[in-house]
Amino acid sequence: MLYEFSNHNKHGNIRTRIVSWPKGKAFGINPKGFGNFIAVRVFKYEYHHEINPPSLANIGGKRYILPTWQEVLPETELSDIKWIKPKPKVKQEPIVEISASSSDPNKTYKTVYYPESGKFHCNCPGRWRAFDGKCKHIKALEKKVK
Ligand SMILES: [Zn+2]
Repeated sequence: MLYEFSNHNKHGNIRTRIVSWPKGKAFGINPKGFGNFIAVRVFKYEYHHEINPPSLANIGGKRYILPTWQEVLPETELSDIKWIKPKPKVKQEPIVEISASSSDPNKTYKTVYYPESGKFHCNCPGRWRAFDGKCKHIKALEKKVK
């Protein structure tokens, strides 16, 4: 088991270190000599990978988590590692709005916002007339999504 042990040093600053303690034995220290502040909590190394589980290897007298090459205490076991899987990115679907033309009620325009690129598109003629390439549909949709 690994523990994160903190205490105040003689300057009053918090000093933190990771210590290993035999499994099944309650963590105990002699509080004398550690100042007026001591904090102990179970410590786990954080390992970030989407697919591969962590493994441990001793190389050149040091112990590493693979495949991330994170150096750890020599006593580290797999149970001392917390595997954090990043959340897979959710594909963001385009937002589509259909609006009727004000001059011709039989005509509709399609305005699309692509969240992944942040781009807008509209097939109305106003888009070509607007100096900034933004017709009123794009401007309205912009207000909605931002
Ligand atoms: Zn438009």
